[in-house]
Amino acid sequence: MTAEFTLIDDLIARRTGAQRADVALGIGDDCALLVPPPGRQLAVSLDLLVAGVHFLPDAEPVALGHKALAVNLSDLAASGAEPAWITLGLTLPGADAGWLAAFMDGFAALAAEHGAQLVGGDTTRGPLCIAVQVHGFVPPGAALTRSGARAGDLVCITGTPGEAAAGLALRFGRLELPEPFATHCLARLDRPTPRIRAGLALRGLASACIDVSDGLAQDLGHILSASGCGATLALGQLPLTAVSAALGAEAAWPYALAGGDDYELLFTLPAAQQAEAEARLAAAGCPFSVIGRIDPEPGLRLVRPDGRPHALERGGYEHFA
Ligand code: ADP
Ligand code: MG
Repeated sequence: MTAEFTLIDDLIARRTGAQRADVALGIGDDCALLVPPPGRQLAVSLDLLVAGVHFLPDAEPVALGHKALAVNLSDLAASGAEPAWITLGLTLPGADAGWLAAFMDGFAALAAEHGAQLVGGDTTRGPLCIAVQVHGFVPPGAALTRSGARAGDLVCITGTPGEAAAGLALRFGRLELPEPFATHCLARLDRPTPRIRAGLALRGLASACIDVSDGLAQDLGHILSASGCGATLALGQLPLTAVSAALGAEAAWPYALAGGDDYELLFTLPAAQQAEAEARLAAAGCPFSVIGRIDPEPGLRLVRPDGRPHALERGGYEHFA
């Protein structure tokens, strides 16, 4: 190993987020030694982020470190798992210690916030690419999955979907928004909040759950096909966002429905559980909106506030192509 990569290992080893008691041996040896809690299932998820595909090569490194971990923690959130351990694979075009220190600062701050510890990984030279694997815990049988939605369940979404997509359109000059809406949307794009506390609160309540990375309509489609049912969404019930405040409700629909990168939780809920979900998610600091209902017949139907059907037209979301 070259001296420059020794420096890099050292730099990473000083930015590991939380210090957990269940890490018997962390970064520095051939393997990390981890002590899973008895009676828990291990929830594992990995995401790859490639420069030029998933982020701009000149992205600000602190925000990129945050986002690389946030999109992975979001998968744990969608499963109702509690974050614990992280591994990180990096290919770097060069040994740019300043860039890497900033990246790791953003990464480690979010890890610490969620009590998660970076326990190992690998670093090599190559085109800029980031692989993050997260490991979390869930009681047996308690994980949220995509397959449990049933006809009559409510379709719900946390937070304010569509703002990250508006941020992306702003960044590419395809949208203009006045302040403070523009700054808000860009922050939602660059620094998504993984809904970990909401995911934990939904254990034992939600019948299905997914995190919205590819747009609400598409990600709802994953729940519908895994659960073997359909849904009707009431567009008038979509939560108000910075986009609707600036441009009006109808202009915000394509961002909410087809825009990605929100990392909100889309979940289904037996109607009898609505009050309990409201109480628990309010306590978790993550309000949600009921936006539709699960139907027995397959397919996704969109209904305008006046009751007319709404077609999810190509022209409406080609900003995101
Ligand atoms: P080996 O050649 O045995 O795989 P390395 O030199 O690749 O060892 O890594 C040394 C230590 O640094 C290991 O504990 C490894 O987990 C850790 N490490 C290397 N790169 C990273 C990284 N990107 N993130 C976290 N830990 C890393
Ligand atoms: Mg190695």
